[in-house]
Amino acid sequence: MIILLAFFGSTSYLQSQNTVDIDGRLQPILNSFFEECEKYGIDYHEKLFQLKNVDITNTLPLEEENTVLGMITRDAQGDVENIMINWVAMLDPEILKVVAFHEFAHYFLDYKHSCHDCNEIMAETNISYFDIAKDWGKQVEQLFTTSPAYLSQQTKEPIAAIFF
Ligand SMILES: [Zn+2]
Repeated sequence: MIILLAFFGSTSYLQSQNTVDIDGRLQPILNSFFEECEKYGIDYHEKLFQLKNVDITNTLPLEEENTVLGMITRDAQGDVENIMINWVAMLDPEILKVVAFHEFAHYFLDYKHSCHDCNEIMAETNISYFDIAKDWGKQVEQLFTTSPAYLSQQTKEPIAAIFF
Protein backbone atom coordinates (compact mmCIF):
# COMPACT_ATOMS: atom_id res chain seq x y z
CA MET A 1 0.00 0.00 0.00
CA ILE A 2 2.85 2.37 0.79
CA ILE A 3 4.31 1.81 -2.65
CA LEU A 4 1.01 2.56 -4.29
CA LEU A 5 0.59 5.77 -2.35
CA ALA A 6 4.09 6.91 -3.23
CA PHE A 7 3.36 6.23 -6.86
CA PHE A 8 0.10 8.09 -6.51
CA GLY A 9 1.74 11.05 -4.78
CA SER A 10 4.63 11.44 -7.14
CA THR A 11 2.78 11.34 -10.40
CA SER A 12 -0.64 12.78 -9.88
CA TYR A 13 -1.23 16.24 -8.59
CA LEU A 14 2.18 17.74 -9.23
CA GLN A 15 1.92 17.54 -12.99
CA SER A 16 -1.47 19.05 -13.31
CA GLN A 17 -2.18 22.59 -14.27
CA ASN A 18 -5.93 22.34 -14.05
CA THR A 19 -7.72 22.11 -10.76
CA VAL A 20 -10.75 20.03 -10.03
CA ASP A 21 -13.25 21.19 -7.47
CA ILE A 22 -14.21 18.19 -5.37
CA ASP A 23 -16.91 18.37 -2.69
CA GLY A 24 -15.41 17.35 0.66
CA ARG A 25 -18.29 14.96 1.28
CA LEU A 26 -17.44 13.06 -1.90
CA GLN A 27 -13.67 13.17 -1.53
CA PRO A 28 -13.32 10.10 0.75
CA ILE A 29 -15.52 8.05 -1.60
CA LEU A 30 -13.53 9.22 -4.61
CA ASN A 31 -10.32 8.31 -2.78
CA SER A 32 -11.51 4.78 -2.15
CA PHE A 33 -12.62 4.53 -5.79
CA PHE A 34 -9.11 5.57 -6.85
CA GLU A 35 -7.58 2.98 -4.51
CA GLU A 36 -9.53 0.37 -6.44
CA CYS A 37 -8.32 1.90 -9.71
CA GLU A 38 -4.73 1.52 -8.48
CA LYS A 39 -5.42 -2.08 -7.50
CA TYR A 40 -6.71 -2.91 -10.98
CA GLY A 41 -4.11 -0.84 -12.79
CA ILE A 42 -6.52 1.70 -14.21
CA ASP A 43 -5.05 5.14 -14.78
CA TYR A 44 -7.43 7.89 -13.77
CA HIS A 45 -5.17 10.96 -13.52
CA GLU A 46 -5.70 12.32 -16.98
CA LYS A 47 -9.47 11.94 -16.78
CA LEU A 48 -9.57 13.45 -13.30
CA PHE A 49 -8.00 16.69 -14.48
CA GLN A 50 -10.36 17.02 -17.41
CA LEU A 51 -13.16 17.52 -14.89
CA LYS A 52 -14.26 20.84 -13.43
CA ASN A 53 -16.41 19.67 -10.53
CA VAL A 54 -17.28 16.61 -8.53
CA ASP A 55 -20.15 18.02 -6.57
CA ILE A 56 -23.31 17.56 -4.52
CA THR A 57 -26.21 19.43 -6.10
CA ASN A 58 -29.81 20.30 -5.33
CA THR A 59 -30.83 20.86 -8.95
CA LEU A 60 -31.35 17.26 -10.10
CA PRO A 61 -34.97 16.04 -10.47
CA LEU A 62 -36.55 14.59 -7.36
CA GLU A 63 -40.08 13.55 -8.26
CA GLU A 64 -42.05 10.34 -8.21
CA GLU A 65 -41.11 8.42 -11.38
CA ASN A 66 -38.41 10.97 -12.11
CA THR A 67 -35.60 10.92 -9.60
CA VAL A 68 -32.05 11.38 -10.74
CA LEU A 69 -29.57 10.56 -7.99
CA GLY A 70 -26.47 11.25 -10.01
CA MET A 71 -25.48 12.64 -13.37
CA ILE A 72 -22.55 13.41 -15.60
CA THR A 73 -22.79 16.71 -17.44
CA ARG A 74 -20.94 17.72 -20.61
CA ASP A 75 -19.85 21.00 -22.14
CA ALA A 76 -20.91 22.24 -25.58
CA GLN A 77 -18.16 20.13 -27.20
CA GLY A 78 -19.55 17.01 -25.58
CA ASP A 79 -16.66 16.58 -23.16
CA VAL A 80 -17.47 15.54 -19.63
CA GLU A 81 -17.32 18.52 -17.32
CA ASN A 82 -18.99 17.64 -14.03
CA ILE A 83 -19.99 14.65 -11.94
CA MET A 84 -23.03 15.67 -9.95
CA ILE A 85 -24.65 13.77 -7.07
CA ASN A 86 -28.15 14.59 -5.85
CA TRP A 87 -28.11 15.87 -2.26
CA VAL A 88 -30.86 13.39 -1.38
CA ALA A 89 -28.35 10.54 -1.75
CA MET A 90 -26.65 11.94 1.34
CA LEU A 91 -29.62 10.90 3.49
CA ASP A 92 -27.84 7.58 3.87
CA PRO A 93 -24.08 6.98 3.59
CA GLU A 94 -24.60 3.59 1.91
CA ILE A 95 -26.79 5.11 -0.79
CA LEU A 96 -24.29 7.91 -1.28
CA LYS A 97 -21.47 5.38 -1.73
CA VAL A 98 -23.40 3.30 -4.29
CA VAL A 99 -24.57 6.34 -6.26
CA ALA A 100 -21.10 7.91 -6.26
CA PHE A 101 -19.36 4.71 -7.38
CA HIS A 102 -22.00 4.35 -10.12
CA GLU A 103 -21.28 7.81 -11.50
CA PHE A 104 -17.50 7.50 -11.08
CA ALA A 105 -17.60 4.19 -12.97
CA HIS A 106 -19.57 5.74 -15.85
CA TYR A 107 -16.76 8.21 -16.28
CA PHE A 108 -13.51 6.60 -15.14
CA LEU A 109 -14.28 3.00 -16.19
CA ASP A 110 -16.13 3.87 -19.44
CA TYR A 111 -19.27 2.12 -18.27
CA LYS A 112 -22.73 2.10 -19.76
CA HIS A 113 -25.45 0.49 -17.64
CA SER A 114 -25.05 -3.23 -17.02
CA CYS A 115 -28.81 -3.90 -16.92
CA HIS A 116 -32.11 -2.07 -16.53
CA ASP A 117 -32.74 -3.10 -12.96
CA CYS A 118 -30.67 -5.65 -11.10
CA ASN A 119 -28.64 -5.66 -7.93
CA GLU A 120 -25.48 -4.31 -9.44
CA ILE A 121 -23.76 -0.96 -9.00
CA MET A 122 -24.16 -0.20 -12.71
CA ALA A 123 -27.86 -1.04 -12.93
CA GLU A 124 -29.87 1.76 -14.49
CA THR A 125 -32.25 1.51 -11.56
CA ASN A 126 -31.27 -0.22 -8.35
CA ILE A 127 -33.78 -2.46 -6.64
CA SER A 128 -32.07 -2.11 -3.28
CA TYR A 129 -29.08 0.00 -2.39
CA PHE A 130 -28.83 -1.86 0.89
CA ASP A 131 -28.43 -5.27 -0.78
CA ILE A 132 -25.57 -3.84 -2.81
CA ALA A 133 -24.01 -2.23 0.25
CA LYS A 134 -24.21 -5.51 2.19
CA ASP A 135 -22.29 -7.24 -0.59
CA TRP A 136 -19.94 -4.32 -1.18
CA GLY A 137 -16.57 -6.06 -1.59
CA LYS A 138 -17.87 -8.49 -4.19
CA GLN A 139 -19.84 -5.76 -5.92
CA VAL A 140 -16.78 -3.55 -6.29
CA GLU A 141 -14.66 -6.43 -7.54
CA GLN A 142 -17.25 -7.24 -10.18
CA LEU A 143 -17.60 -3.57 -11.07
CA PHE A 144 -13.90 -3.28 -11.82
CA THR A 145 -13.12 -6.67 -13.35
CA THR A 146 -15.98 -6.45 -15.85
CA SER A 147 -15.50 -2.77 -16.69
CA PRO A 148 -14.71 -1.69 -20.26
CA ALA A 149 -11.63 0.23 -19.01
CA TYR A 150 -10.21 -2.85 -17.27
CA LEU A 151 -10.98 -5.28 -20.08
CA SER A 152 -9.51 -3.10 -22.81
CA GLN A 153 -6.39 -2.64 -20.71
CA GLN A 154 -6.01 -6.38 -20.10
CA THR A 155 -5.55 -6.94 -23.81
CA LYS A 156 -2.80 -4.31 -23.94
CA GLU A 157 -0.44 -5.12 -21.10
CA PRO A 158 -0.20 -7.20 -17.94
CA ILE A 159 -1.35 -5.37 -14.83
CA ALA A 160 2.03 -5.74 -13.06
CA ALA A 161 3.74 -3.56 -15.66
CA ILE A 162 1.95 -0.51 -14.29
CA PHE A 163 3.82 -0.68 -11.00
CA PHE A 164 7.39 -1.12 -12.17
ZN1 LIG B 1 -26.11 5.54 -14.70
